Amino acid sequence: MIIHCRNCGHPINLNNESDIFNPNLICPNCGKSLTSDGNYCYRCGKPTFPEDTQCINCGAYLVKPAGTWEVTLALAFFFGWFGAHRFYTRHYLTGLLQFLTLGGLGIWVIIDIIRILLGDFKDSKGIPIKPHSIQKL
Ligand SMILES: [Zn+2]
Ligand SMILES: [Zn+2]
Repeated sequence: MIIHCRNCGHPINLNNESDIFNPNLICPNCGKSLTSDGNYCYRCGKPTFPEDTQCINCGAYLVKPAGTWEVTLALAFFFGWFGAHRFYTRHYLTGLLQFLTLGGLGIWVIIDIIRILLGDFKDSKGIPIKPHSIQKL
């Protein structure tokens, strides 16, 4: 698929859309890492602001989620009663609340696990955490 360098907007052919977050990939046009802060959306090539987390044109998420779906789910399943999955995804305040309430007496953690399974759980910046196979960045 064609993606765009976030620095210069140059089109690049990549097999996997999530490679846009691979720091080892370099743009052949400008020589910068593809993970550089962006002036352009990698998916549609429209201009973005460097601080944007989501493209206002096509809705692509421009930053990588704080963690992987697999680790988030495992932490919620085994250690969710003290908020481990929330600390992992940088929800520090609600992580602390879960720690103090034993995961909302288990109920809150079960809701989180369901949301993680559905791909509906987000990190502290609002970036969805989804399994790799269905990751729509
Ligand atoms: Zn470039
Ligand atoms: Zn876009």
